[in-house]
Amino acid sequence: PCIFDITAKRAELAGSDIALEEVASGRTVTYAGLDERAARAAGLLLSLGIGAGDRVAILCRNRIEFFELLFACAKMGAILVPLNWRMPAAEIRPLLADCTPGLLIFGEDDAGVAAELAADVPALLGLDVGYVDQRDQSPCHPGRRQWPADGIWYLLYTSGTTGKPKAVIYTFTMAMVNYINISQPIGLTGRDTTLNFLPLFHTAGINLHTLPTLIVGGRVLIMPGFDADVMLDLVAAGRIDAMFGVPAVYQMLAMHPRFASVDLTRLRSWGCGGAPLPDLLVQRFLERGVRVCNGMGMTETGPTAFIMDPNRVAEKIGSVGKPQVLAGIRIVGPDGLDVEPGQAGELWFGGPGITPGYWNRPDATAAAFSADGWLKSGDLARCDADGFYYIVGRIKEMFISGGENVYPAEVENVLAQHPAILEAAVIGIPDEKWGEVGQAHILLRPGQTLPSTEDLTRYCRERLAPFKVPKRFVAVADFPRTAAGKVQKHRL
Ligand code: ATP
Ligand code: MG
Repeated sequence: PCIFDITAKRAELAGSDIALEEVASGRTVTYAGLDERAARAAGLLLSLGIGAGDRVAILCRNRIEFFELLFACAKMGAILVPLNWRMPAAEIRPLLADCTPGLLIFGEDDAGVAAELAADVPALLGLDVGYVDQRDQSPCHPGRRQWPADGIWYLLYTSGTTGKPKAVIYTFTMAMVNYINISQPIGLTGRDTTLNFLPLFHTAGINLHTLPTLIVGGRVLIMPGFDADVMLDLVAAGRIDAMFGVPAVYQMLAMHPRFASVDLTRLRSWGCGGAPLPDLLVQRFLERGVRVCNGMGMTETGPTAFIMDPNRVAEKIGSVGKPQVLAGIRIVGPDGLDVEPGQAGELWFGGPGITPGYWNRPDATAAAFSADGWLKSGDLARCDADGFYYIVGRIKEMFISGGENVYPAEVENVLAQHPAILEAAVIGIPDEKWGEVGQAHILLRPGQTLPSTEDLTRYCRERLAPFKVPKRFVAVADFPRTAAGKVQKHRL
């Protein structure tokens, strides 16, 4: 089989190995089973009038059927579009208008929203009513004859942290590049079991470490969502070798009563990324013998471009590591030229793992890429003398106070080290004297009250230049967040 026909390739090599296991239900599927289901699901899609190049939207929680449909699309050439089930119908509707799927597939948990969207799509297919019979009665699709490396496999909407989500095109090559970029630094092999609890409509859920594990023939444990108790049981039982979580997940683990007692070192590889990782959190895990490896990338970069070497975590806290083997990196100044070593500039990405563009959005694609094809991330970064990279912050979030640039991420990292503070989000607000000043939104640790403005100002002054110190501090019950737990600053 073609290497892009991942399930067929694995079925040929070791078909009786378990590919996927649902932690909650205990359901498993072997590689041979997954391949047959994918082939039959491809037959079913064809019989429903879906052809090569058509989009198939899917709205479901993490489950085995998601993967059989993902691989079914690979086999028959349709493009899978996982949708965010945290969105109400009103938010999904414009996305359907954007990707114009021929079919919307949904799971029971999302049947209500799917029903609201019935008028927006040509057809609906429920996974919990008759689907298994329909699939099993469908003929096995033999797999397409042509597997172009730049063929579109699936679309993933960006997180929507800075505005309207855009559908990032994922090709077969991008999946293979991601496999190499991930498996090489973490030593992923077919003997490994990885855990995924992140939603599959988010690039981290589907790509990190899930598809690499399936490409190399390991086992993926899937959970419908993050549950610290279940995860700690799996860790204690030595059932997981590698996992990837966003900082919010690490925060929840660090606050869990069993954090101090479970032997966390039974899980070999702890990956993190997607949002700034507070220094304090890295330290708390180091105290428990765990080296949390920060990594950085974007939905557009397939997704990771940087990853931290576990052996350097303690020494380089705050770094996202070095460029991955197939990632092209530049740090560029406003003049479009590479900055001097050590200086901060915009991160630009290149190489075979980068998306060819956004679906249906030539305007956004043109705006995101330089004339010679580099992806302009919108993030500011610098590189130290040892070649380790640091994310300074998003350019969009920067504000100017008294003529000086302030990057909220730096201020938030300092605030998060205050004993009363769990998390902070800083934005610039207009100020007559300084142009803009910082306003810190503060999520307190349980049982804490907001310290006085004088106390917080003094605390920040000891650690930050005066122009970076927020002028206002407000306590909040929580932040508006994306599905990956990122704070949506534009909504604050
Ligand atoms: P949208 O593009 O819709 O506004 P988004 O940029 O948050 O949303 P993603 O592609 O999920 O969507 O996130 C990529 C962004 O996340 C990066 O551009 C960067 O700003 C941030 N990011 C990712 N990893 C890290 C990290 N390790 N440290 C700091 N920031 C990170
Ligand atoms: Mg983005």
